[in-house]
Amino acid sequence: MQRENARAEECPKMRFIRGQRKSVQLVCNQYAYAKNKQHGSMTYWNCRIRRSGLPACNARISTKRLTNGKYKVWLTRPEHNHPPSKRIARMLNDSLVT
Ligand SMILES: [Zn+2]
Repeated sequence: MQRENARAEECPKMRFIRGQRKSVQLVCNQYAYAKNKQHGSMTYWNCRIRRSGLPACNARISTKRLTNGKYKVWLTRPEHNHPPSKRIARMLNDSLVT
């Protein structure tokens, strides 16, 4: 029996961006996540923010690609120890101007 103990949520502003060195990053709620591993249609993402004087952020989310091309998002560990990225927020705002 499979147990889903994490919340599955819609993340309307979710998007994928190209990070440095061709890595893919996932942006959700103004936080960026680096791809950790992929397992079938599931992808696991970790926040990679490290700030001096603070422990590394352990926030993580999972996404599942659905057959209709959309993604289901699990905020596996939604707590960040830092504010959202201003750079990401700016990018999202830019893209909203269409
Ligand atoms: Zn974080």
